[in-house]
Amino acid sequence: MAEEGFNAFKMAQKQFDRIADKLDLDEGTRKILRKPIREYHFNIPVKMDDGSTQVFEAFRIQHNDARGPCKGGIRFHPQETVDTVRALAMWMTWKTAVANIPLGGGKGGVICDPHDLSDREQERICRGYVREIYDELGPDKDIPAPDVMTTAQHMLWMMDEYEKINGSKNPGVITGKPVDMGGSLGRTEATGYGVIYVLREVLKEMDLDINEMTASVQGFGNVAQHAVELFIEYGGTVVSVSCWDQEDSCAYSYFREDGIDLEELRGITDRFGSIDKKKAKEKGYTRRSGEDWIKDDVDILIPAALENAITEDNVEDIKDSVRLIISGANGPITPEADEMLEEMDIVVIPDFLANAGGVTCSYFEQVQSNQNYYWPKEEVLGKLDNMMTDAFYEVWELAKRKNIRVRDAAYMISIDRVAEACKKRGWV
Ligand code: GLU
Repeated sequence: MAEEGFNAFKMAQKQFDRIADKLDLDEGTRKILRKPIREYHFNIPVKMDDGSTQVFEAFRIQHNDARGPCKGGIRFHPQETVDTVRALAMWMTWKTAVANIPLGGGKGGVICDPHDLSDREQERICRGYVREIYDELGPDKDIPAPDVMTTAQHMLWMMDEYEKINGSKNPGVITGKPVDMGGSLGRTEATGYGVIYVLREVLKEMDLDINEMTASVQGFGNVAQHAVELFIEYGGTVVSVSCWDQEDSCAYSYFREDGIDLEELRGITDRFGSIDKKKAKEKGYTRRSGEDWIKDDVDILIPAALENAITEDNVEDIKDSVRLIISGANGPITPEADEMLEEMDIVVIPDFLANAGGVTCSYFEQVQSNQNYYWPKEEVLGKLDNMMTDAFYEVWELAKRKNIRVRDAAYMISIDRVAEACKKRGWV
């Protein structure tokens, strides 16, 4: 997102450079991995409902495909920037590598605000997006998925447009589709549940009982809601969630000391994750500023909204009670904040490991779509749990063995895997 002084791509490159030095990576591989291999910038003309024509700026960035076709979501956001999409594409490369799935990394974005657009206008943006770059997409090239403010319905419109142009059925071109239209059972839950599968294992390793754990969550979109759902099901308590308030154009956090009731809050939340503030008050929630989620006296913080949430400016607001931060969002912690969190002895489970459940389930969806044969939900979630747990232990064991941060260990495994693939292909 466009935010004064913050550049997500510079941050992603800084994170990469740090590990490239530690791995003593050769110059050629560094040059390949520091930048996306391909970028598409285009403008989508859309006939609006009132008869006027608007043009929406859009991007698709393919960071690396040495391990398989590029994979990653398409975001709709009014403050989208090309550098944010570049960073997110790079993080997708590390995410697919650390989860050890045979895919690369990509990301897309459209500068638009779905709040201000009718369904028909959004459909035209989706179809226009595919028309502009359909040659570069495909089950064996680049496979989009939902992300911030995009849904299964958006994916279906995109698939339909792709199939119309292509003249054949290709459900594997996109993931996160509706379940009755080629989607996978479990895909909606996958990212949030994946965060909690990893959290469950971290707590075991830290000798902490999940039944005694309290958490504060930033966000209340799909990822946050499913993370909260499974965390509560496992016995934990969530005291606060935060969300964007469209009416007031700011974020609020909603707090209840004895724990939030997920179903109650879901019942008063719109499809973008904004909670109805009047109804929340009636139900006994205290409304606070959006930044207050970080100041709670809890054991666990779960940033599950957007990038740049924990920075050197607010890291000192974190209470001594916090033992662990696990990221549902992409890029929520800056490298400076990471350093400070290490000094504060807080364990950080990085985004591209913790939230890899979404893309892992997308991979399952693609396999099912390509075979036109669909698995039961328990099978999908069981496979997901196994893959997330395996990925976590590989990283955790390396971190312990080398006495390094969990993020560094995750980066080492993924950068090493991608670098190896580049080398084996003869790119360096
Ligand atoms: N947008 C999700 C992410 O950032 C999922 C990507 C995918 O399923 O391809 O991981």
